[in-house]
This record gives sequence, structure tokens and C-alpha cells, in this order.
Amino acid sequence: MTGTDISDEELLARFPGWDVNRDSAAHYRGRLERRLLLQRCEDCGTWHHPPRPLCPACWSWNVTPTEVAGTGTIFMFVLLHQGPPAEGVDYSEPHPVVTVELDEQPGLRFTSTVLGVPNDAIRIGARTTLDWIDRDGAPLPVFRIVEEAQ
Ligand code: ZN
Repeated sequence: MTGTDISDEELLARFPGWDVNRDSAAHYRGRLERRLLLQRCEDCGTWHHPPRPLCPACWSWNVTPTEVAGTGTIFMFVLLHQGPPAEGVDYSEPHPVVTVELDEQPGLRFTSTVLGVPNDAIRIGARTTLDWIDRDGAPLPVFRIVEEAQ
């Protein structure tokens, strides 16, 4: 099943508890195809996230969900010692949450978790790539740290 041909009702059912609305629906449909779609202005090229109907730079309504590469740099990093219940998340080990500044544009940031490394190996400025896991029956975009060449 692809993400683009399901109804709004099905989309809401696939992402219970998420902020699925008119502006973000295309983003969540993209997740079902494991594509990270963020809003980009067709008039001035500015990206923004979370999705809004209007370009924050030039106020154009001509914004289109556009796929990003998902590569970037860790901008902010927190460890959650408590949080909402989530499949596969056990807060006995603090759960990392990172905000990654994506390569497409300074200030374009996306927040998720980072997998595959111990918490003490996560640092601001580390390079990341995008990966996908399944959580609660829907694909979730996550980050992995890129090992930098010495
Ligand atoms: Zn614009």
C-alpha cells in the first residue's frame, strides 16, 4: 500500500496521537512510503517545518511537500528519563531525542530519536543520516550517526 492513495480517515488511523491535519497530511502520507516530505516554497525555494500553508519567507501559498535527503547535523540533543509510552522505548535507559539541522537549508530542523549508538556517543555537531523504523504500525523517521573518517 502506498501512502498517497489512502483516505484521510485511514491516515488518521495510522498515526493515532500525532498531529495529522490538513497542513501535515502530505508529510504523514510520505512517511507511509518512507519518504521525509517537508514543505518547500515553489516561489522562493525556502523550506519550513512543521508544515504551514504559507511560506514564512515570502508569504506565498505556493508550498509543496518535497522530499529531503535526510542528511544533517545534530543541533540539539536531550535525554528523556521519562516520557510518553512508545513501542520499543524503555526509559530505564534514557531515551535520546535529537533535533537535526538538515543539509537542505540552515534552520531547517527535524526532531526524532537517534539509533545505533550509546547515549554517550551522541554529541552536538555529529553528522547524521535518515533511517526508518516501524513503530505502532507506521514508519517512523529516525537518525543514525555517520562515522566520520579519522
Ligand atoms: Zn517563499
